[in-house]
Amino acid sequence: MPRKPGEQFIKRKIRQTNKIYNKSRPKRDRLYYSSQWKQISMLYRKQHPLCEECERNGIITPADLVDHIIAVNDGGNMWEWENLQSLCMNCHNKKHSKG
Ligand SMILES: [Zn+2]
Repeated sequence: MPRKPGEQFIKRKIRQTNKIYNKSRPKRDRLYYSSQWKQISMLYRKQHPLCEECERNGIITPADLVDHIIAVNDGGNMWEWENLQSLCMNCHNKKHSKG
């Protein structure tokens, strides 16, 4: 009896998808250099020009960068507006040096 048609195709497809996934993983950092990220982070900073962490403490500090509240490496969404926050360099370093 011949093998089910499509079985081989599906297997190959899965292998291909895994390959692409594995390939894209180490390149995740490159997303931060993509024009799409530059665009969204610029837009976000336009609306949140001050460091949000400092603001919570009653300090006015201009933001240096846009950070992910839940890190992309921890499953946070890179493009989710609600997952973004403006931070100054100081707060960014503080957040990422802890744990
Ligand atoms: Zn700050």
